[in-house]
Amino acid sequence: MSHCPFCKKKIAMSKAFCSRSCKENYFQLIAIQIPKLFMKRIHTFCTEEEKEVEIEKFALRHKWRIDLLQNKIEEESIRLGYKTAPAEND
Ligand SMILES: [Zn+2]
Repeated sequence: MSHCPFCKKKIAMSKAFCSRSCKENYFQLIAIQIPKLFMKRIHTFCTEEEKEVEIEKFALRHKWRIDLLQNKIEEESIRLGYKTAPAEND
């Protein structure tokens, strides 16, 4: 068994993704690049509301799906130390 790289569902070894939409989402997620300055701006100068607006504008400008962009920003925030990773459940 192998795992879908996007949703982590178990899939047959012969498949790369569990579905067409997972494949599309996965490649879109990889394509999303978030400049460090943007990360710094939304975490340093924006309130939560302003941050949401900025993220929405950013998604629209690049025609990215907002939920994917939010996921990526979440990951990056943790990676860059703006946020601490959620506690892992054992
Ligand atoms: Zn999947």
